[in-house]
Amino acid sequence: MAPDAQHARIAIIGSGCAGLTAAIYAARAALPPVVIEGMAAGGPPGGQLSLTSDVENYPGFPRGILGPELMAQMREQAERFGSQFLVGDVTRVDLSRRPFSIEGEGLDPFVLTCDALIVATGAKPRKLGLPSEERLWGRGVTACATCDGMFYKGEDVVVIGGGDTAMEEATYLTKMCRKVTLIHRRDEFRASRIMLDRARANPTIELLVPYGVEEILADEHDQVRAVRLKNTRTGEVRELETKGFFLGIGHEPNTGLFAGQLKLDDEGYLVAGPAAAPGTKAATATSVPGVFAAGDVADHVYRQAVTAAGSGCQAAIDAERFLSH
Ligand code: NDP
Repeated sequence: MAPDAQHARIAIIGSGCAGLTAAIYAARAALPPVVIEGMAAGGPPGGQLSLTSDVENYPGFPRGILGPELMAQMREQAERFGSQFLVGDVTRVDLSRRPFSIEGEGLDPFVLTCDALIVATGAKPRKLGLPSEERLWGRGVTACATCDGMFYKGEDVVVIGGGDTAMEEATYLTKMCRKVTLIHRRDEFRASRIMLDRARANPTIELLVPYGVEEILADEHDQVRAVRLKNTRTGEVRELETKGFFLGIGHEPNTGLFAGQLKLDDEGYLVAGPAAAPGTKAATATSVPGVFAAGDVADHVYRQAVTAAGSGCQAAIDAERFLSH
């Protein structure tokens, strides 16, 4: 039997930094939203920060804060002003008419309709697909140099990838690490010339190509100790000692639900602002009036908790203005 539809003025899909900040702002503007928090995007509720340990770059926490703790506090703040939470994975959205409709599976199937929608489904770092990568995630394996670089001060680390993300991560890590080995599976790099040249000119970075990662190896405390590499041309196998394993092979936005309904760029990110809605002043407007984008789902440049929170705030203000017109 089809479930009864619940209606919200504003619905928010995603409960990471962007979604929860949007919820705080919407609720305080007397538009308490329904926030859908699910696991479908490949991570737990609370988004990518729920998977990190110490967060030391979020303003206001001079001694740092644990990622899950920060998300729990944001959730509590959103709830305090009246946001409602619906736990479940969205399986289908219909943005072709208003009210928009959202179907999903929680403990029970649900249908939610809304007058304005904020999409804050985030992005996930692309992974290699090795079992050791999953097992050692947060134990030396990470995908964010800005977040975790300081934990490897004075250590030797590796960065995997040949694009701008890998160059940027490697260059950033040279500020605190003793040596950064950048490992890429081909001789040619996808990275922009300027970023590649900057990495090449940095004496702390060694480029090691063409090597693929066969396995990440752990010590007796289940912390990363080395990486086993295979030369993709000659087949030579070698081990390289390292404390940190930084993935820099790109991100995948969680936009599968919106394909064909919202304008996406070539990499699958939501297009927002005037590029999506010509003439708009709303930075978070998408190609469908009344649907707004917040956080990493529309950002492949900054990808920080604080920028995601900032765009969540913008999306809530944009949604409120849309509804009041
Ligand atoms: P890219 O897709 O450009 O590069 C991904 C890299 O990872 C490629 O070198 C690719 O290798 C490698 N890779 C992918 N999958 C695997 C795998 N399974 N095993 C080994 N290697 C793999 O992603 P980026 O995140 O680097 O960049 C995405 C976009 O964001 C680009 O447009 C970039 O310019 C932009 N960006 C801009 C920045 C800036 O301006 N400051 C910073 C970061 C990103 P291969 O080349 O062999 O396919």
